[in-house]
Amino acid sequence: MKYISTRGGMEPQQFCDILLAGLAPDGGLAIPESYPHFSADDLQRLSTLNYRELAFEVISRFIDDIPAEELRDLINKTYTAETYCNGREPSKADDITPIIKLEDDLYIQELSNGPTLAFKDMAMQLLGNLFEYVLAKRNETVNILGATSGDTGSAAEYAMRGKKGINVFMLSPFGRMSPFQRAQMFSLQDKNIHNIAVKSMFDGCQDLVKACNKDADFKANYKIGAVNSINWSRIVAQVVYYFKGYFGTVTTVGEPIDFCVPSGNFGNICAGHIARQMGLPIRKLVTATNENDVLDEFFKTGGYYPRKDAETYATSSPSMDISKASNLERFVFDLVGRDAAKLAQMWTDVESGKGFKLDDGTFKKMAEQYGFLSGKSSHADRLDAIREVHEKYGLFIDTHTADGYKAALQTRTPGVKMVIMETALAAKFEETIQEALGTLPNRPEHLKGIENLPQRSTTMEADAVALKKFVIERL
Ligand SMILES: *Cc1c(COP(=O)(O)O)cnc(C)c1O
Repeated sequence: MKYISTRGGMEPQQFCDILLAGLAPDGGLAIPESYPHFSADDLQRLSTLNYRELAFEVISRFIDDIPAEELRDLINKTYTAETYCNGREPSKADDITPIIKLEDDLYIQELSNGPTLAFKDMAMQLLGNLFEYVLAKRNETVNILGATSGDTGSAAEYAMRGKKGINVFMLSPFGRMSPFQRAQMFSLQDKNIHNIAVKSMFDGCQDLVKACNKDADFKANYKIGAVNSINWSRIVAQVVYYFKGYFGTVTTVGEPIDFCVPSGNFGNICAGHIARQMGLPIRKLVTATNENDVLDEFFKTGGYYPRKDAETYATSSPSMDISKASNLERFVFDLVGRDAAKLAQMWTDVESGKGFKLDDGTFKKMAEQYGFLSGKSSHADRLDAIREVHEKYGLFIDTHTADGYKAALQTRTPGVKMVIMETALAAKFEETIQEALGTLPNRPEHLKGIENLPQRSTTMEADAVALKKFVIERL
């Protein structure tokens, strides 16, 4: 399996070479030369596997430069009931991503039972183990520099804590994260984890990361790396749970079903697209957005017009407050028939701020051949969804999953099963749950009082020179 760039300017490379790189040299994203395919017989065989066995079957099709038995060990040590038990008895958690039936033809797939209570743990935990393995083989180290508004930073830190050859420097906006999110990150005492609270908003943090990455000498000398959502191995890890969710829902293998996915950077749902390309019988993939509805507009009109930060609202589903969906580039590459020159032109127009509009034929193909639909929700819709799910089914859902619930009801077809992807637990967004229900959601036992643990962080002005000095001093 070799990887190429969506923009055509990269020599085909093996998995381990693209694992540690960010963007392809031409600014594009790494993507397999072709997708592996499972036949109907294969699917039948896969349908009875447990999560780890299934993960190996799927992931080994994309990674053939790690010996199979070593890859199997890495997967087995990642997807354990202990890591994904979320405070429950591990003996009851071996499903990893259990399915909850709400009513006939309507399901939720739990993806948030990992250490930080959001779906990002599903991929980030594997990434941590892959990084450690490849760095040790090559006798290399990496210093991950990232910016977070909450979920990504904590998932990365819990995946990389205590790992050999890896340091994490994570910037977050000073005073902007929820007390719970801050406690999750800042209470980590591992020596390789460095939390930096920057006196700016999230965008200011991201600008600092960009400034450091533009300094080619600094980047090379101090081996600066990234774990953001364009990382291909995160997508691969996510493909697995579409298979697991499918097999856990259908009555007979082969039956087409729909998935609805709360989306921001288009990483999660991109994995659904790939699962479908591999032969999984997914009928519709529904992109759910909040008030930041660039993706809803794209799927409804064919026009993709990313917005500036100033035009991006701060909402009650903050992990989806994104107006430029990086991973969309991977899907559109397939949509335009893998024409890299065409794709490169489209993304030149995106980067210059112009955006693009699909021609009629391509727009039709998107709905008919690729089965994409979309929906959006407002704050009031999310509150309604949280109330309805609590009243009807006795469950607490978080604000992002509520976006998914709303879009799923807007787009479901009678007689076709619909699976809503749960992207975080309600406990992470207590304030809005309180607003909707007048009560707080349950918090897993082991996280009670996390806000009272001792915290470690360094507060800094938004200054790239000071940041580089801080990094260098700690290596
Ligand atoms: C990151 C995140 C999303 C968006 O996922 P994408 O892969 O960026 O589309 C949705 N919900 C939650 C809770 C998240 O943390």
